[in-house]
Amino acid sequence: MGKFVLGEKRPLIIAGPCAAETYEQTVNTALELAKSGKVDVIRAGVWKPRTNPGTFEGIGEPALGWLEEIKEKTGLPLAVEVANRSHVQLALKHNIDILWIGARTTVSPFAIQEIAEALRDNKDVTVLVKNPMTPDIGLWAGAVNRLINEGIPRENIGLIHRGFSYFGHTKYRNPPMWHMIFEMRARFPEMMMICDPSHICGCRPLLQGIAQQAADLCFDGMMIESHNSPDKAWSDSAQQVVPQDCITMIDNIMWRTKSADDPEFNDELNLCRQQIDQIDAELFELLSQRMKTADKIGHIKKASNVAILQTNRWGEVCRRMLNMTRSMGLSEEFVNSVLEAIHVESINHQNEVMNK
Ligand code: PEP
Ligand code: MN
Repeated sequence: MGKFVLGEKRPLIIAGPCAAETYEQTVNTALELAKSGKVDVIRAGVWKPRTNPGTFEGIGEPALGWLEEIKEKTGLPLAVEVANRSHVQLALKHNIDILWIGARTTVSPFAIQEIAEALRDNKDVTVLVKNPMTPDIGLWAGAVNRLINEGIPRENIGLIHRGFSYFGHTKYRNPPMWHMIFEMRARFPEMMMICDPSHICGCRPLLQGIAQQAADLCFDGMMIESHNSPDKAWSDSAQQVVPQDCITMIDNIMWRTKSADDPEFNDELNLCRQQIDQIDAELFELLSQRMKTADKIGHIKKASNVAILQTNRWGEVCRRMLNMTRSMGLSEEFVNSVLEAIHVESINHQNEVMNK
């Protein structure tokens, strides 16, 4: 089997258990995934960064032997998570093709620097960098730059989006915060961006929807956790799927092309884009008129020495607009954030007028 080359296969499908637990579980899961012909890379965690000590923290080196056997049997490249120098050395000793850096490691510049330095003599290995736990693009980009600075070629580095931890209630284990991904893509446009729906969702029913959203946003692949007996898994039990369900999920993803050559498609798209440009221009023309009216209100309030913020009036404006927009196909969250932005700008305008 030749060297794994990142970018040769798009979309790239990586699947396998959260962790290698036993020989049977790891090999059986991998063989079933490989048999489908739908999986390009087998993943398995060998060292598991767990929140609490005393829980299962991975099998360690013996599991790397199982993975070598899987590689021999399936001909597929293997991926494992590394978090320090010794992990890198052991993984390379056992011919692992792809090393990924987990979200808990990307947050630590010391750990990343150690990994980057451990790779100095093995620059042709592929490294996938997961986003840090916290929604901090600088930290994610910093990790990538540390690898580049140690001489890892950019084409051997890929990115994995696994969602961001969030203090508050959401239906996702780690909400996707897609806008963060646009920012990262803008910084490293040439790098593969792979979605990990398993860690975003944290549960099975949401997986397909997130995978499809990622495909719609032109992601370059998926990393999906699959286990031959997910309910009995020693880590991330709720989000793992049996190999058959993993394959069905992969089959159901509709991948989009980045652009199309069809002239009819382009004509239709251009027409819509012209409409959007026109609507945007009108929207901002109206917003500017609205702010000019706010300026007038500022003058009137100043003349009578009345405060800018009139909470009751603002409550009325919001209620009226929420009622009105309910049937317009706009979400309440969107309407609220637009109203808030308008309100802030309007108050700034009035402040300017009153304090001039
Ligand atoms: C994993 O892939 O099993 C893992 C630990 O993921 P993350 O670093 O995204 O939490
Ligand atoms: Mn996991």
